[in-house]
Amino acid sequence: MFDDERSKKVVFIAHCLLNQNSISDGTAVYPAMFRNVIELFMKADIGIAQMPCPELCCLGLDRGNIYGADAPIVVENTRIRIEMKKDIPNTQLDRLADYVVYEILEYIRYGFEIVGIIGANRSPNCGVDTTSDNNTEMKGMGLFMEKILCRLSEKNILIPMIGLKGTDNISEKLSPLLKSV
Ligand code: SF4
Repeated sequence: MFDDERSKKVVFIAHCLLNQNSISDGTAVYPAMFRNVIELFMKADIGIAQMPCPELCCLGLDRGNIYGADAPIVVENTRIRIEMKKDIPNTQLDRLADYVVYEILEYIRYGFEIVGIIGANRSPNCGVDTTSDNNTEMKGMGLFMEKILCRLSEKNILIPMIGLKGTDNISEKLSPLLKSV
């Protein structure tokens, strides 16, 4: 099956890397997307699966913050983290993680390669190496990435996870994923 022109290689990326309009107020670093990320995967013929933005889906575009970008980012991120842990958002977050893992499992079932999962460092939800808590950026994963990793680990599925920031050397950071192509 699926023996057509497709590469059978897919990368899962945080929603805002492909759509900066989804990100919390004051934190967009590009008008639309991380073009350098998208172009690298385009050139490597790797399909891009855009994961849902958990904060947009669970808290709304404004994250429930009527003060916009007034608070420092890590302070606002800590508030978001607290909100996301409440019962209703947390249940919604579980569903989103289930949805992402379902998609991943479907690809794996048919022999596709998931080359990686790309998150957004410092995010209280999509951070991979760093997240935000206690009004600071700290080592650790965001809540959404943790849930995805937990579900994959339960199934003994190991997929490289990389967290990006706008200040990173993107091609250097993504090179481990592209080398295997
Ligand atoms: S890092 Fe995650 S939660 Fe934050 S805007 Fe991007 S996709 Fe949404």
